[in-house]
Amino acid sequence: MTEKTKQEYQVIIIGGGPAGLTAGLYTSRARLSSLLIERGLVGGQIADAELVENYPGFAQGISGLELGQLMHQQATKYGLNTVIAEVTGIELKGEEKVVKTTKSDFTTKAVIIASGSERRKLGIPGEENLTGRGVSYCATCDAPFFKDKPVAVVGGGNAAITEALYLAKFASRVIVIHRRDQLRASRILEERALAEPKIEFQWNSVVEGIEGEEMVKRLSLHQVTTGKKSTLDVAGVFIAIGLKPNTDFLKGVLPLDEAGYIITNDKMETELPGIFAAGDIRQNSPRQAITAAGDGATAAIFAEKFISQ
Ligand SMILES: Cc1cc2nc3c(=O)[nH]c(=O)nc-3n(C[C@H](O)[C@H](O)[C@H](O)COP(=O)(O)OP(=O)(O)OC[C@H]3O[C@@H](n4cnc5c(N)ncnc54)[C@H](O)[C@@H]3O)c2cc1C
Repeated sequence: MTEKTKQEYQVIIIGGGPAGLTAGLYTSRARLSSLLIERGLVGGQIADAELVENYPGFAQGISGLELGQLMHQQATKYGLNTVIAEVTGIELKGEEKVVKTTKSDFTTKAVIIASGSERRKLGIPGEENLTGRGVSYCATCDAPFFKDKPVAVVGGGNAAITEALYLAKFASRVIVIHRRDQLRASRILEERALAEPKIEFQWNSVVEGIEGEEMVKRLSLHQVTTGKKSTLDVAGVFIAIGLKPNTDFLKGVLPLDEAGYIITNDKMETELPGIFAAGDIRQNSPRQAITAAGDGATAAIFAEKFISQ
């Protein structure tokens, strides 16, 4: 890890997930002095994926942790600098941008925001220690691991029902656990879910705990209207109760959509000249490693054009 070497860079990238690391690879190869600022583990969310089977080029799949590390090594080889610190704000000083962090302030001409999003957690016993071992936040990523096995989906909005419909292609049963007595998903998704024989609903219910030693075995449930407690045997549980974009440090700097995501055009430009956004942080992102990487490359290419103008 290359710690702070200087205070001024041509490009600063916020976030070391697939979007930020790809942006860093492109800006470094373009010979722009580039700094990537990451507050946690380089690799971003993908580092939590036990096995990534849908990133092209790895026919046997690859662990998410290794994929993130390889991306970082590749970008570092071409000169990307990395600082481990949390970005707390961005200040605009004419054409110059000051990126404020918990370690130091850095100035730059162009900023690529790739700070991603976080899955909202249930915050119940078993959730953290069984993540990646039956507890998942991404059906597109993990559904094939549950072929012919029973799984649960927690949530009742569009994300939860989309996950349930996708899981129904693989799992033997999909039990949607929702704390209300009706879904919040769009009518069309609801109709599809109700027509899918593999999908069942457990209404007015909350999950209180996830049990299992090596892998998820069962859920403990609480029926909120009757107060009845029960258990449900499943091999996996997909938690889809929403996402939280990592944009707290942008309040008052950049307009965000209602849910807190950044709006860009197809060059990854935001409303502010020289500020780009890439990956899961963008409004309507498909939230996949490959799409985040693609956004990062696009943002870097247009950031380079912006700097050279
Ligand atoms: C368990 C799991 C499994 C997954 N499996 C797959 C899969 O198999 N295939 C697939 O395509 N996708 C998968 N995904 C989704 C994929 O990981 C994301 O779509 C992708 O990582 C998004 O990349 P990103 O760079 O936009 O954001 P992120 O990966 O979220 O990276 C953002 C980074 O920014 C950092 N950051 C945030 N705020 C700040 C700040 N203020 N200062 C400094 N740093 C900050 C974060 O720490 C993070 O490292 C999975 C996700 C999870 C959680």
